[in-house]
Amino acid sequence: MGFRQGDVSLQLQLQFSIADDPRWALIVARDETADGQFWFSVSTTGIYCRPSCPSRRARPENVRFHETVAAARAEGFRPCKRCNPDGISNDAANTRLIVKACRMMEKSERELSLADLAVAVNLSPSYFHRIFKAAMGITPKHYSAGLRAERLREELVKSDTVTEAIYGSGFNSGSRFYETSQGILGMTPKTYRAGGKNEEIHFALGMTSLGSILVASSRKGIVSILIGDDPDILLRGLQKRFPHAKLIGADADYEGLIARVVSLVDKPRLSSNLPLDIRGTAFQQRVWKALREIPLGCTATYSEIAKSIGAPTAARAVASACAANKIAVVIPCHRVVRNDGSISGYAWGINRKRSLLAKEANAQIGVKPDASFTNRVTSDACR
Ligand SMILES: [Zn+2]
Repeated sequence: MGFRQGDVSLQLQLQFSIADDPRWALIVARDETADGQFWFSVSTTGIYCRPSCPSRRARPENVRFHETVAAARAEGFRPCKRCNPDGISNDAANTRLIVKACRMMEKSERELSLADLAVAVNLSPSYFHRIFKAAMGITPKHYSAGLRAERLREELVKSDTVTEAIYGSGFNSGSRFYETSQGILGMTPKTYRAGGKNEEIHFALGMTSLGSILVASSRKGIVSILIGDDPDILLRGLQKRFPHAKLIGADADYEGLIARVVSLVDKPRLSSNLPLDIRGTAFQQRVWKALREIPLGCTATYSEIAKSIGAPTAARAVASACAANKIAVVIPCHRVVRNDGSISGYAWGINRKRSLLAKEANAQIGVKPDASFTNRVTSDACR
């Protein structure tokens, strides 16, 4: 009787000490930074794992900690097949394979298929596609298209003829290239090769409650809306972005457009319907499209945007796409906030971001009156 009582109290003591051990919290959190610091074994299964093991959590009373892999083995435990505690983690292994695939695409003269890549990294095509997209935010096909576009831009400047550039940048045929080049370059390859010399960009400067504003358009639509303190700096920014284009200012017809943009900044409305000429990588374009779906008066976090474009682990890439936005206000990158809801960096100044959000919160139409700009895109009020 006395023995059994002692056994129970020993068990309770052990349970308390494991659950109370800071290492247990790391296991519960599947904290990758703890990998390599210690290992744990589970008496009921006879296996040992790294702290970040994705398997279902064991009960703490069945868990023991080990300083080394050898110590776990010495006590008769076997390595877990899921988390490979002796080698590198699955996540790290996948990252290596993704990097390998990216390097292959960068070096290859021809476009590699999903099957080619999957064979090279020894994974099934569907699994490779899934981990690539989760890590990179875009599919391997998109990644490869982006590389070819980059190569094409370089080749067009280097090569003597457009045809030479087409083959030099890995396109198999001219017709296929012409189909996609407008989308990639935003202009014909000939115009691009001439350094955008034939392209006309109209622009106008104005004043808003947030400071000076510059609006610039190509034939297709608005290419830039820049906000700042000094109109000269804004204009220099435009010249830097379109070094060879013909910039046309003081155009009476164009003044109407800038008036519309100014009023949009000062009195936010639900929809702008302004024609846009959005130029960016495939990934940036997807992010910017998602930003335009955040309702007026609402905000979303970088992670929420990443999730909404089907790339849940790409929050950091989403943040850089937001920072690369050249069309202020109309592509509302100011509606993206940190995961804790706090307001972080804005290309045109954090105080401007704050003012814009406050203005939009006041201008909300058809949304609950108590809704403020801290509402998330996922909250009911902002759906
Ligand atoms: Zn494991």
